[in-house]
Amino acid sequence: MSTARDLIARLVRPEIQTLASYHVPDARGLIKLDAMENPYPWPEELVPAWLETLRRVALNRYPDPAAAALKARLRIALAVPPEAGLLLGNGSDELIQMILFALARPGATVLAPTPTFVMYQQLAVTVGMRFVGVPLASDFALDRAAFLEAIEREQPACIFISYPNNPTGNLFDRADIDAVLAAAPGLVVLDEAYHAFARATYLDALTRHPHVLVMRTLSKQGMAALRLGLLAGDPDWIAELDKVRLPYNINSLTQASIEFALAHQEAFERQCERIRAEREALYQALARLPGVTVWPSAANFLLFRTERRPAGEVHARLREAGVLIKNLDAAGGALAGCLRVTVGTPEENAAFLAALAQAL
Ligand SMILES: *Cc1c(COP(=O)(O)O)cnc(C)c1O
Repeated sequence: MSTARDLIARLVRPEIQTLASYHVPDARGLIKLDAMENPYPWPEELVPAWLETLRRVALNRYPDPAAAALKARLRIALAVPPEAGLLLGNGSDELIQMILFALARPGATVLAPTPTFVMYQQLAVTVGMRFVGVPLASDFALDRAAFLEAIEREQPACIFISYPNNPTGNLFDRADIDAVLAAAPGLVVLDEAYHAFARATYLDALTRHPHVLVMRTLSKQGMAALRLGLLAGDPDWIAELDKVRLPYNINSLTQASIEFALAHQEAFERQCERIRAEREALYQALARLPGVTVWPSAANFLLFRTERRPAGEVHARLREAGVLIKNLDAAGGALAGCLRVTVGTPEENAAFLAALAQAL
Protein backbone atom coordinates (compact mmCIF):
# COMPACT_ATOMS: atom_id res chain seq x y z
CA MET A 1 0.00 0.00 0.00
CA SER A 2 1.27 3.48 -0.87
CA THR A 3 2.11 5.81 1.99
CA ALA A 4 0.70 9.31 2.04
CA ARG A 5 4.15 10.54 1.04
CA ASP A 6 4.23 8.27 -2.03
CA LEU A 7 0.83 9.50 -3.12
CA ILE A 8 1.76 13.13 -2.53
CA ALA A 9 4.92 12.72 -4.60
CA ARG A 10 2.83 11.30 -7.44
CA LEU A 11 -0.29 13.48 -7.26
CA VAL A 12 0.53 16.93 -5.90
CA ARG A 13 1.86 19.48 -8.39
CA PRO A 14 5.66 19.76 -8.00
CA GLU A 15 5.52 23.54 -7.39
CA ILE A 16 3.16 22.96 -4.44
CA GLN A 17 5.45 20.25 -3.04
CA THR A 18 8.37 22.68 -2.92
CA LEU A 19 6.26 25.48 -1.38
CA ALA A 20 6.38 26.20 2.37
CA SER A 21 3.11 27.08 4.10
CA TYR A 22 2.87 30.66 5.38
CA HIS A 23 4.72 30.70 8.68
CA VAL A 24 3.25 32.65 11.60
CA PRO A 25 5.53 32.62 14.68
CA ASP A 26 4.11 32.06 18.16
CA ALA A 27 3.79 35.49 19.77
CA ARG A 28 2.35 34.48 23.16
CA GLY A 29 3.77 36.62 25.95
CA LEU A 30 5.66 38.86 23.52
CA ILE A 31 5.22 42.49 22.48
CA LYS A 32 3.89 41.83 19.00
CA LEU A 33 5.41 44.17 16.43
CA ASP A 34 5.77 41.75 13.52
CA ALA A 35 2.53 41.83 11.55
CA MET A 36 1.46 45.46 10.97
CA GLU A 37 -1.50 45.18 13.30
CA ASN A 38 -3.06 48.25 14.90
CA PRO A 39 -1.80 48.04 18.52
CA TYR A 40 -4.95 49.60 19.99
CA PRO A 41 -8.03 47.59 20.94
CA TRP A 42 -11.47 48.81 19.86
CA PRO A 43 -12.41 51.99 21.74
CA GLU A 44 -13.95 50.91 25.06
CA GLU A 45 -16.96 53.21 24.72
CA LEU A 46 -18.03 51.45 21.49
CA VAL A 47 -17.93 47.89 22.83
CA PRO A 48 -21.40 47.68 24.48
CA ALA A 49 -23.21 48.96 21.36
CA TRP A 50 -21.13 46.67 19.13
CA LEU A 51 -22.04 43.63 21.26
CA GLU A 52 -25.69 44.66 21.05
CA THR A 53 -25.36 44.63 17.24
CA LEU A 54 -23.87 41.14 17.31
CA ARG A 55 -26.70 39.89 19.51
CA ARG A 56 -29.09 40.49 16.59
CA VAL A 57 -27.05 38.48 14.06
CA ALA A 58 -28.87 35.28 13.03
CA LEU A 59 -26.16 32.67 13.39
CA ASN A 60 -28.43 29.91 12.07
CA ARG A 61 -28.67 31.67 8.68
CA TYR A 62 -26.12 31.96 5.91
CA PRO A 63 -24.57 35.43 5.57
CA ASP A 64 -25.87 37.92 2.99
CA PRO A 65 -23.86 36.66 -0.02
CA ALA A 66 -23.77 40.14 -1.58
CA ALA A 67 -23.01 41.90 1.74
CA ALA A 68 -25.11 44.75 0.36
CA ALA A 69 -25.39 46.87 3.51
CA LEU A 70 -21.68 46.56 4.25
CA LYS A 71 -20.76 47.47 0.67
CA ALA A 72 -22.93 50.58 0.81
CA ARG A 73 -21.13 51.68 3.99
CA LEU A 74 -17.71 50.94 2.49
CA ARG A 75 -18.45 52.98 -0.62
CA ILE A 76 -19.15 56.04 1.51
CA ALA A 77 -16.38 55.51 4.06
CA LEU A 78 -13.66 54.87 1.48
CA ALA A 79 -14.97 57.27 -1.17
CA VAL A 80 -15.21 54.57 -3.86
CA PRO A 81 -16.20 56.23 -7.18
CA PRO A 82 -19.91 55.52 -7.85
CA GLU A 83 -19.10 54.12 -11.33
CA ALA A 84 -16.75 51.47 -9.88
CA GLY A 85 -17.78 47.94 -8.98
CA LEU A 86 -16.88 46.50 -5.58
CA LEU A 87 -15.82 42.98 -4.60
CA LEU A 88 -15.21 41.82 -1.02
CA GLY A 89 -12.73 39.21 0.11
CA ASN A 90 -11.93 37.31 3.29
CA GLY A 91 -8.94 39.60 3.69
CA SER A 92 -7.28 41.04 0.61
CA ASP A 93 -5.30 37.80 0.46
CA GLU A 94 -8.47 36.12 -0.78
CA LEU A 95 -8.96 38.85 -3.39
CA ILE A 96 -5.46 38.24 -4.74
CA GLN A 97 -6.35 34.56 -4.93
CA MET A 98 -9.63 35.30 -6.77
CA ILE A 99 -7.88 37.51 -9.32
CA LEU A 100 -5.29 34.85 -10.00
CA PHE A 101 -7.84 32.00 -10.11
CA ALA A 102 -9.59 33.88 -12.91
CA LEU A 103 -6.37 34.60 -14.84
CA ALA A 104 -4.55 31.26 -14.34
CA ARG A 105 -4.01 29.70 -17.70
CA PRO A 106 -0.92 27.72 -18.70
CA GLY A 107 2.07 30.02 -19.13
CA ALA A 108 0.30 33.16 -17.83
CA THR A 109 2.64 35.45 -15.90
CA VAL A 110 2.34 37.62 -12.79
CA LEU A 111 4.79 40.51 -12.53
CA ALA A 112 5.71 42.60 -9.49
CA PRO A 113 8.60 44.73 -8.30
CA THR A 114 10.59 42.85 -5.63
CA PRO A 115 11.03 42.73 -2.70
CA THR A 116 7.31 43.05 -2.11
CA PHE A 117 4.37 41.38 -0.37
CA VAL A 118 5.09 37.64 -0.54
CA MET A 119 1.50 36.52 -1.17
CA TYR A 120 1.59 37.69 -4.81
CA GLN A 121 4.22 35.05 -5.56
CA GLN A 122 2.84 32.44 -3.15
CA LEU A 123 -0.64 32.61 -4.68
CA ALA A 124 0.62 32.84 -8.27
CA VAL A 125 2.51 29.59 -7.72
CA THR A 126 -0.49 28.03 -5.96
CA VAL A 127 -2.77 28.58 -8.95
CA GLY A 128 -0.11 27.43 -11.41
CA MET A 129 1.01 30.78 -12.82
CA ARG A 130 4.56 32.01 -13.44
CA PHE A 131 5.83 34.74 -11.13
CA VAL A 132 8.49 37.18 -12.28
CA GLY A 133 9.96 39.72 -9.87
CA VAL A 134 11.72 42.86 -11.10
CA PRO A 135 14.30 44.10 -8.55
CA LEU A 136 13.74 47.59 -7.16
CA ALA A 137 16.47 50.20 -7.51
CA SER A 138 18.94 50.45 -4.60
CA ASP A 139 16.87 53.26 -3.01
CA PHE A 140 13.76 50.99 -3.33
CA ALA A 141 12.31 53.13 -6.12
CA LEU A 142 10.62 51.37 -9.02
CA ASP A 143 13.32 50.74 -11.64
CA ARG A 144 11.25 52.15 -14.48
CA ALA A 145 13.47 51.06 -17.38
CA ALA A 146 13.86 47.50 -16.04
CA PHE A 147 10.16 47.23 -15.25
CA LEU A 148 9.03 48.43 -18.68
CA GLU A 149 11.49 46.03 -20.28
CA ALA A 150 10.05 43.18 -18.18
CA ILE A 151 6.51 44.12 -19.23
CA GLU A 152 7.57 44.06 -22.88
CA ARG A 153 9.33 40.70 -22.47
CA GLU A 154 6.86 38.89 -20.20
CA GLN A 155 3.52 40.33 -21.38
CA PRO A 156 2.12 39.77 -17.86
CA ALA A 157 -1.55 38.91 -17.39
CA CYS A 158 -1.36 40.75 -14.07
CA ILE A 159 0.95 43.23 -12.36
CA PHE A 160 0.80 43.80 -8.59
CA ILE A 161 2.04 47.06 -7.11
CA SER A 162 1.94 47.50 -3.37
CA TYR A 163 1.36 51.25 -2.78
CA PRO A 164 3.10 51.89 -0.39
CA ASN A 165 5.30 48.85 -0.75
CA ASN A 166 5.61 46.15 1.93
CA PRO A 167 8.29 45.59 3.29
CA THR A 168 10.16 48.73 2.14
CA GLY A 169 7.48 51.22 3.25
CA ASN A 170 7.90 53.69 0.39
CA LEU A 171 5.35 55.04 -2.08
CA PHE A 172 6.62 54.57 -5.62
CA ASP A 173 6.83 57.66 -7.78
CA ARG A 174 3.52 58.34 -9.51
CA ALA A 175 5.24 59.04 -12.85
CA ASP A 176 6.80 55.55 -12.68
CA ILE A 177 3.44 53.94 -11.90
CA ASP A 178 1.75 55.91 -14.67
CA ALA A 179 4.36 54.58 -17.11
CA VAL A 180 3.53 51.04 -15.93
CA LEU A 181 -0.21 51.66 -16.36
CA ALA A 182 0.40 52.94 -19.89
CA ALA A 183 2.55 49.94 -20.87
CA ALA A 184 0.66 47.09 -19.16
CA PRO A 185 -1.02 44.67 -21.58
CA GLY A 186 -3.13 43.10 -18.80
CA LEU A 187 -4.50 43.90 -15.35
CA VAL A 188 -2.70 46.16 -12.87
CA VAL A 189 -3.66 45.77 -9.21
CA LEU A 190 -2.71 48.63 -6.91
CA ASP A 191 -2.61 47.19 -3.41
CA GLU A 192 -3.35 50.05 -1.01
CA ALA A 193 -3.23 47.98 2.19
CA TYR A 194 -1.59 50.91 4.04
CA HIS A 195 -3.84 53.68 2.74
CA ALA A 196 -4.87 54.70 6.27
CA PHE A 197 -1.27 55.73 6.94
CA ALA A 198 -0.15 56.86 3.47
CA ARG A 199 -3.24 58.80 2.36
CA ALA A 200 -2.27 58.36 -1.30
CA THR A 201 -4.56 56.54 -3.70
CA TYR A 202 -5.27 55.51 -7.28
CA LEU A 203 -9.04 55.24 -6.70
CA ASP A 204 -9.51 58.33 -8.86
CA ALA A 205 -7.69 56.59 -11.74
CA LEU A 206 -10.28 53.80 -11.96
CA THR A 207 -12.65 55.69 -14.23
CA ARG A 208 -9.81 56.44 -16.70
CA HIS A 209 -8.26 52.95 -16.70
CA PRO A 210 -10.48 49.89 -17.25
CA HIS A 211 -7.47 47.60 -16.62
CA VAL A 212 -6.72 48.97 -13.14
CA LEU A 213 -8.06 47.57 -9.87
CA VAL A 214 -7.53 49.15 -6.45
CA MET A 215 -7.36 46.86 -3.42
CA ARG A 216 -7.78 47.88 0.22
CA THR A 217 -7.99 46.02 3.52
CA LEU A 218 -9.26 46.85 6.99
CA SER A 219 -6.63 44.61 8.58
CA LYS A 220 -4.00 47.26 9.23
CA GLN A 221 -6.41 49.67 10.92
CA GLY A 222 -7.78 47.69 13.82
CA MET A 223 -9.83 44.90 12.23
CA ALA A 224 -7.29 42.22 11.33
CA ALA A 225 -9.28 39.52 13.16
CA LEU A 226 -12.39 40.18 11.08
CA ARG A 227 -10.74 39.53 7.70
CA LEU A 228 -12.10 42.00 5.16
CA GLY A 229 -10.52 43.23 1.97
CA LEU A 230 -12.09 45.05 -0.94
CA LEU A 231 -11.41 45.46 -4.60
CA ALA A 232 -12.72 48.37 -6.67
CA GLY A 233 -12.65 48.62 -10.44
CA ASP A 234 -14.49 48.43 -13.72
CA PRO A 235 -17.89 46.73 -13.10
CA ASP A 236 -17.25 44.20 -15.88
CA TRP A 237 -14.02 43.09 -14.23
CA ILE A 238 -15.69 42.91 -10.83
CA ALA A 239 -18.57 40.82 -12.24
CA GLU A 240 -16.09 38.45 -13.87
CA LEU A 241 -14.01 38.00 -10.69
CA ASP A 242 -17.18 37.52 -8.64
CA LYS A 243 -17.67 34.19 -10.45
CA VAL A 244 -14.72 32.61 -8.63
CA ARG A 245 -15.76 33.94 -5.22
CA LEU A 246 -17.11 31.38 -2.76
CA PRO A 247 -20.75 32.36 -2.10
CA TYR A 248 -20.55 33.20 1.61
CA ASN A 249 -16.96 34.37 1.90
CA ILE A 250 -17.70 37.25 4.30
CA ASN A 251 -19.23 35.84 7.48
CA SER A 252 -22.15 37.53 9.23
CA LEU A 253 -20.18 38.57 12.33
CA THR A 254 -17.64 40.32 10.12
CA GLN A 255 -20.32 42.05 8.06
CA ALA A 256 -22.11 43.32 11.16
CA SER A 257 -18.93 44.31 13.00
CA ILE A 258 -17.40 46.28 10.15
CA GLU A 259 -20.68 47.99 9.32
CA PHE A 260 -20.75 49.06 12.95
CA ALA A 261 -17.12 50.18 12.94
CA LEU A 262 -17.58 52.28 9.81
CA ALA A 263 -20.51 54.03 11.45
CA HIS A 264 -18.00 55.11 14.13
CA GLN A 265 -15.14 55.78 11.76
CA GLU A 266 -13.68 58.81 13.59
CA ALA A 267 -12.56 56.67 16.54
CA PHE A 268 -10.51 54.45 14.21
CA GLU A 269 -9.17 57.43 12.29
CA ARG A 270 -7.87 58.90 15.54
CA GLN A 271 -5.98 55.66 16.20
CA CYS A 272 -4.39 55.82 12.74
CA GLU A 273 -3.36 59.42 13.36
CA ARG A 274 -1.67 58.37 16.58
CA ILE A 275 0.13 55.59 14.75
CA ARG A 276 1.33 58.04 12.08
CA ALA A 277 2.69 60.39 14.75
CA GLU A 278 4.36 57.47 16.53
CA ARG A 279 5.88 56.32 13.24
CA GLU A 280 7.72 59.64 12.95
CA ALA A 281 8.96 59.44 16.55
CA LEU A 282 10.13 55.87 16.06
CA TYR A 283 11.84 56.79 12.78
CA GLN A 284 13.76 59.62 14.48
CA ALA A 285 14.78 57.35 17.36
CA LEU A 286 16.02 54.61 15.02
CA ALA A 287 17.88 57.14 12.87
CA ARG A 288 19.77 58.29 15.99
CA LEU A 289 20.90 54.77 16.93
CA PRO A 290 24.48 54.06 15.85
CA GLY A 291 24.75 50.92 13.71
CA VAL A 292 21.24 51.27 12.29
CA THR A 293 20.13 52.41 8.83
CA VAL A 294 16.39 53.14 8.72
CA TRP A 295 14.27 54.02 5.69
CA PRO A 296 11.41 56.55 5.70
CA SER A 297 7.98 54.92 5.56
CA ALA A 298 4.48 55.91 4.46
CA ALA A 299 3.02 52.83 6.18
CA ASN A 300 2.67 51.65 9.81
CA PHE A 301 6.05 49.90 9.88
CA LEU A 302 9.72 50.74 9.45
CA LEU A 303 12.40 48.80 7.63
CA PHE A 304 15.90 49.03 9.08
CA ARG A 305 19.28 47.39 8.63
CA THR A 306 21.68 46.48 11.40
CA GLU A 307 25.18 47.42 10.27
CA ARG A 308 27.34 46.03 13.07
CA ARG A 309 25.67 42.83 14.21
CA PRO A 310 23.96 40.19 12.03
CA ALA A 311 20.23 40.89 11.77
CA GLY A 312 19.38 37.33 12.78
CA GLU A 313 21.27 37.77 16.03
CA VAL A 314 19.59 41.11 16.78
CA HIS A 315 16.20 39.56 16.03
CA ALA A 316 16.87 36.65 18.41
CA ARG A 317 18.06 38.98 21.18
CA LEU A 318 14.96 41.14 20.82
CA ARG A 319 12.83 38.03 21.12
CA GLU A 320 14.65 36.99 24.26
CA ALA A 321 13.93 40.47 25.60
CA GLY A 322 10.22 39.92 24.84
CA VAL A 323 9.82 41.82 21.56
CA LEU A 324 8.78 40.10 18.34
CA ILE A 325 9.58 41.83 15.04
CA LYS A 326 10.06 40.46 11.52
CA ASN A 327 13.39 39.13 10.30
CA LEU A 328 13.77 39.73 6.55
CA ASP A 329 17.44 38.83 6.35
CA ALA A 330 16.74 35.37 4.92
CA ALA A 331 15.05 36.91 1.85
CA GLY A 332 18.53 38.12 0.85
CA GLY A 333 19.21 40.61 -1.93
CA ALA A 334 18.16 44.13 -0.99
CA LEU A 335 16.79 42.81 2.31
CA ALA A 336 20.04 41.24 3.54
CA GLY A 337 20.62 42.46 7.08
CA CYS A 338 17.12 43.95 7.31
CA LEU A 339 14.47 43.80 10.01
CA ARG A 340 10.95 45.23 9.98
CA VAL A 341 9.16 46.65 12.98
CA THR A 342 5.47 47.54 13.19
CA VAL A 343 4.66 50.84 14.89
CA GLY A 344 3.13 50.01 18.28
CA THR A 345 1.85 52.03 21.22
CA PRO A 346 4.32 54.57 22.72
CA GLU A 347 5.04 52.05 25.53
CA GLU A 348 5.64 49.18 23.10
CA ASN A 349 7.90 51.33 20.92
CA ALA A 350 9.91 52.41 23.96
CA ALA A 351 10.34 48.78 25.05
CA PHE A 352 11.44 47.86 21.52
CA LEU A 353 13.95 50.72 21.35
CA ALA A 354 15.43 49.86 24.73
CA ALA A 355 15.77 46.18 23.77
CA LEU A 356 17.25 47.12 20.41
CA ALA A 357 19.87 49.41 21.95
CA GLN A 358 20.93 46.45 24.11
CA ALA A 359 20.83 43.97 21.21
CA LEU A 360 23.01 46.09 18.93
C1 LIG B 1 -1.04 42.88 5.01
C2 LIG B 1 -1.09 43.03 3.55
C3 LIG B 1 -2.14 42.48 2.80
C4 LIG B 1 -3.08 41.45 3.38
O1 LIG B 1 -4.10 41.94 4.04
P1 LIG B 1 -5.32 41.05 4.52
O2 LIG B 1 -6.47 41.89 4.11
O3 LIG B 1 -5.16 40.92 5.98
O4 LIG B 1 -5.33 39.73 3.81
C5 LIG B 1 -2.22 42.75 1.46
N1 LIG B 1 -1.27 43.47 0.85
C6 LIG B 1 -0.23 43.98 1.52
C7 LIG B 1 0.79 44.76 0.79
C8 LIG B 1 -0.10 43.76 2.88
O5 LIG B 1 0.98 44.22 3.54
